[in-house]
Amino acid sequence: MIYAAATHPVRVGNLVIGGNHPVVIQSMTNTDTLDTTATVAQCQRLFDAGCQMVRITAPGLKEARNLEDIKNQLQQKGYTGPLVADIHFLPEAALIAASIVEKIRINPGNYCDRNRGKTEFSQAEQAAERERIAERLSPLVEVCRQHGTAIRVGVNQGSLSERLVSLYGNTPRAMVESALEFIGIFEKLRFDQLVISMKSSRVQLMDQATRMLWDRMRQNGKTYPLHIGVTEAGDGEDARIISAIGIGSLLTDGIGHTIRVSLTEAPENEVPVAQSIVKAAEYLQQMPETERDALAIRYDARRDAGKAQEEKTSMARNAGIAGKDKELARILTAVRWGRLMLRGQKEGFRIEGDLFSEDEKKQLIDDIFHAAGLRSSKTRFIACPSCGRTKYDIQSVLAKVKARFPDYPDLTLAVMGCIVNGPGEMADADYGYIGCGNGQVNLYRKGELVKSHIPEDKALDELEALIRSDFPCRRPTVQ
Ligand code: SF4
Repeated sequence: MIYAAATHPVRVGNLVIGGNHPVVIQSMTNTDTLDTTATVAQCQRLFDAGCQMVRITAPGLKEARNLEDIKNQLQQKGYTGPLVADIHFLPEAALIAASIVEKIRINPGNYCDRNRGKTEFSQAEQAAERERIAERLSPLVEVCRQHGTAIRVGVNQGSLSERLVSLYGNTPRAMVESALEFIGIFEKLRFDQLVISMKSSRVQLMDQATRMLWDRMRQNGKTYPLHIGVTEAGDGEDARIISAIGIGSLLTDGIGHTIRVSLTEAPENEVPVAQSIVKAAEYLQQMPETERDALAIRYDARRDAGKAQEEKTSMARNAGIAGKDKELARILTAVRWGRLMLRGQKEGFRIEGDLFSEDEKKQLIDDIFHAAGLRSSKTRFIACPSCGRTKYDIQSVLAKVKARFPDYPDLTLAVMGCIVNGPGEMADADYGYIGCGNGQVNLYRKGELVKSHIPEDKALDELEALIRSDFPCRRPTVQ
């Protein structure tokens, strides 16, 4: 069984997260929450695939209330796994959902004051804002206490409060301070059924912020379970590799108590990937440390000896658990070498054996370097996994965007499901494509809205025109 460092235990329905309990795999529906039949069916598919906990978006009061029907129908069909409500901006929706489901996810950024444009905050102003946050959270804590509902404090790099960004920049430190601030407020309200997450679409930032938070919680003497995931990972192999590196690196080091792989695909596709990442991390945990970290050790020794570049490589021998399972072998290779790259290892490595062809080996190594942010040979795409807020076919749009703009190694293109959370969560993207409903699309450049309500059939051409006007010397590959 995979080892996860012990924490304060948090009960979520018939599961316990943290304590000494095994890592819990979760996912999220992308159906309309008001469509009870579709949402129940998707939950069933997720539970059948091995998902242990399912999150459902509750952006408004109607959706929050409908969680009751969804839960009742699932229970009638024998599905008793815990449900989690994803709360966006409405504290009232949180109050309703907290009385129905076993856990709710809130974003600290949505409980802070809106301080648009303000860049300086006195100590007194900061303390006063913390008081106001406590007042906003207090009714929610009462409902959660009454119903035994847990809360995830879901910090997202794209939606930090202006106050924390002004103090620490948009950095892992600001994410950590946001989480600790909310932990402190909840503890003052005598509530400790908390799970914490630190999400970013940049795997390095997510890794850094999570490790920093883990250390700070240990210094403070109380550790809460951590939910681990790389947000807006997109789809296909790139998304699997980036998730393997981000989630697997932390799990290998015993950090992380529940995980979600976010894919812009059918949610049930996330479950086997998550299971493979847990398997890979478990395997690496059992490997002697000297062997697991061999690349770094050999590299250091040879650098000191001033040996040639080609000697600064090591080999990936991952047949141990993967056997002929190429998907598991890919994930294991990504976790193993990606983890070393996140720790500062920048040298190359070689994959041995005949499981992969030479082209596949080269591609996998390129993908791992790309995901770890060390080398870029292609456009970086980010895309949200979509949820009940998404009003267009994001999966096919992402495929079209990837096909049309493959060769911009220095650019990040985002495809997001909704205009409510999308702009904030794709904040570090160079260009963003967001469906805004009614067959229309908004386009963004560096987080600023530049074109709105474009008919969907013209949106890709408009995006291309925008990129061309910024980079007149380069031609996107049009397919
Ligand atoms: S950005 Fe995507 S996942 Fe996030 S709320 Fe909007 S549609 Fe849902």
